[in-house]
Amino acid sequence: MLIVQKFGGSSVSDAEHILRVANRIVQTVKAGNQVVAVVSAMGDTTDELIDLSTQITKSPPSREMDILLTAGERISMSLLAMAINELGVNAKSFTGQQAGIETTEKYGRAHISGVVPDRIMKTLDAGGVAVVAGFQGVHRKTNDVTTLGRGGSDTTAVAIAAALNADVCEIYSDVDGVFTADPRVVKTARKMKAVTYEEMLELAASGAKILALRCVEYARRFGVKIHVRSSFSDNEGTFICDEHEVGRIMKEQDLEAPIISGVAHDSSESMISLVGLPDVPGIAAKIFDEVAKHGINVDMIVQNISKSVSGRSDISFTLPQSQAELGARTLLEVSRELGGPEVHLEHNVGKLSLIGAGMKTNPGVSARFFSALNDAGVNVEMISTSEIRISVVVSLDDLDRAVKALHTAFELDSVEDEAVVYGGTGR
Ligand code: ASP
Ligand code: MG
Repeated sequence: MLIVQKFGGSSVSDAEHILRVANRIVQTVKAGNQVVAVVSAMGDTTDELIDLSTQITKSPPSREMDILLTAGERISMSLLAMAINELGVNAKSFTGQQAGIETTEKYGRAHISGVVPDRIMKTLDAGGVAVVAGFQGVHRKTNDVTTLGRGGSDTTAVAIAAALNADVCEIYSDVDGVFTADPRVVKTARKMKAVTYEEMLELAASGAKILALRCVEYARRFGVKIHVRSSFSDNEGTFICDEHEVGRIMKEQDLEAPIISGVAHDSSESMISLVGLPDVPGIAAKIFDEVAKHGINVDMIVQNISKSVSGRSDISFTLPQSQAELGARTLLEVSRELGGPEVHLEHNVGKLSLIGAGMKTNPGVSARFFSALNDAGVNVEMISTSEIRISVVVSLDDLDRAVKALHTAFELDSVEDEAVVYGGTGR
């Protein structure tokens, strides 16, 4: 088999960990497989490099920032290649550029536009292991190095797996797989055997940090089978694949595909409300036009029905905390043009989502969802849904309790203690 193995920062955080990873790679090769390893920067290296830059300047040129950050993965890739060689198997490390990862021009959040894996293939053909620096590539025209955005090594791994038509892309981190809820919050969370790309996309978009959203999109587009597992154990993890394949895996294990796959939560958003808007056409368009012009990412939106007496209505929406101040400033300007509705900024909110492909065909999921929250005394501030997801915004103080309540109400709790967190921060 041709296997791409990606190791996150916590899996290569020091020399001892790197040697352990090298050992796993060598085992995989000795079992008769070809291996491409993709690595993240050691431990918190990327954060430390960012800190360092802020000690020099508040606004580093983005080109230089990208060169700086790619250094993190260059350290881990070369050390890992050395470790594999030490164990008697040939290995060569490659930067994103050397590995043929071509990207768009956007520093800091470039997209992969193509993969030309000549050198990787040459190394594999010669019986060696190719070790590739994750999270980076090159813009062909300028020949400048770029980075793919935080957590981008997952995407590198999937892109290489797609380009090589690999049998599987294994993503190693410090947890045993994808769980029915964050094991750090819900002790009884259960490891899923397999989830569809669609469910994983909703989970990732709803705050599950196990995989970067872009990597799942890429995998779905190219049909790359992902296996999320721990580098600290030999346990089988979670497969992410299409519906057909999920069905096959569940059947193999004599299990039925579950109606609900899991509960995700996200405490990284804030909420802005405009209170007392004139209830006439064009207001929402005006607001979100200005919001878009400032590059603000809107997530959930609600508008309440106008109170017939006043003829006024309210609109609230959520956005990343990092953009909250910008959002509030933007809306204060808009407010002036709209006759002065009040602008409220609320940081103390959390988002909670229930995800499951079975929602499409099973009635009563919403009823159970809202009565579970009601029984737990949790007040709902916003609601949004998709075909396979229900999300609500609640007070941040209620978030953990709400996650647990839903997890129990949908019978996701496991009887044994399965959820082992091996350390690190979850990335
Ligand atoms: N080292 C980069 C980061 O921490 C990329 C990655 O880990 O995937 O964001
Ligand atoms: Mg990292």
